[in-house]
Amino acid sequence: MYSPLLRLPRSLLFTLLLLTACSGPSDVHETRFLMGTLVDYTVSGVDQDKAEQAISAAADEMQRIEDTFTIYGDQPNAVKAFNKEPPNTPVTLPDEVSYVLGIALHVQQQSGGAFDPALGGLNLLWGFSLDPPPASPPSADAIRAAVPPSHCIRRSGAQWLRTDRRCQLDFGGIAKGYAIDRGIEVLRQHGITNAIINAGGDLRLIGSHGKRPWRIGIRDPRKPGGVLAELDLKGDKSIVTSGDYERFFIYQGKRYHHILSPKTGWPAMQNQSTTVMAPSAMLADAWSTALFVNATPPERPSSVLLMRVDKAGHIHGKLQ
Ligand code: AMP
Ligand code: MG
Repeated sequence: MYSPLLRLPRSLLFTLLLLTACSGPSDVHETRFLMGTLVDYTVSGVDQDKAEQAISAAADEMQRIEDTFTIYGDQPNAVKAFNKEPPNTPVTLPDEVSYVLGIALHVQQQSGGAFDPALGGLNLLWGFSLDPPPASPPSADAIRAAVPPSHCIRRSGAQWLRTDRRCQLDFGGIAKGYAIDRGIEVLRQHGITNAIINAGGDLRLIGSHGKRPWRIGIRDPRKPGGVLAELDLKGDKSIVTSGDYERFFIYQGKRYHHILSPKTGWPAMQNQSTTVMAPSAMLADAWSTALFVNATPPERPSSVLLMRVDKAGHIHGKLQ
């Protein structure tokens, strides 16, 4: 899913600034490096010890999820093992992986194939998770050969199989959101009712910030430090952004980035960024990636709100 290397999306830095600017005396604020990015925890309205214990448990849980879902690094896990199985061999996946995969395939279906959790081989070929990122694209032949057939991950009873060697699970478009959801759940189990977990600009918030709502900034994809919108939110809200500025390189004057069209195997070029509000961070994460690839999919749940910046820099939609 993520390489262990440090990447600091500018959106995160900006959101951090906003959160810091709003911090009151009863905030506890901690930052951890997880899932290839800085994850920022803000807990409001409880004493320091209680907040720190809760944050520590939430961070442990998010680390566990990263280890469970990642396709990078040397540590074995069930996802990496699945990707090595011969085609058409039914495999049992851990319940949690099965659950997230089921959601991913549902979003794949609703988005008309724009979201595809089987692009692991293609993503490794492009190498956007390497540090430094590659300087030029792979050859067109290599890309064509790495594109998996669509819907190549199937259920087989309670098990799963891949129909083709090119199908390799990659939860990079959804697992960060799932980890944020689990982190919030752990905070709640520790009695926390007012908090934000912000993983590189992808966040879920609960409760409020004292008597006020939480204030969130959505970054401008082409102006570091610039904002497209500021939102005042409370309750339980998840907001995730996919952008062509997160991992990219410029080759011969053209931008190549990490969100790929499953049809062509090349970076999707319709948008600069898509920001989604949805009932969970997992859904917001999957849909922000899906809508980046195709802003007008066949089905989009009415609970999935979209604001996007198209290729020409025009803003469409709003989140409130
Ligand atoms: P995000 O930043 O959430 O939009 O996710 C991008 C990551 O998801 C990439 O780094 C890949 O690991 C993976 N990915 C790229 N293209 C797609 C796609 N079309 N569908 C699902 N996952 C993708
Ligand atoms: Mg995503």
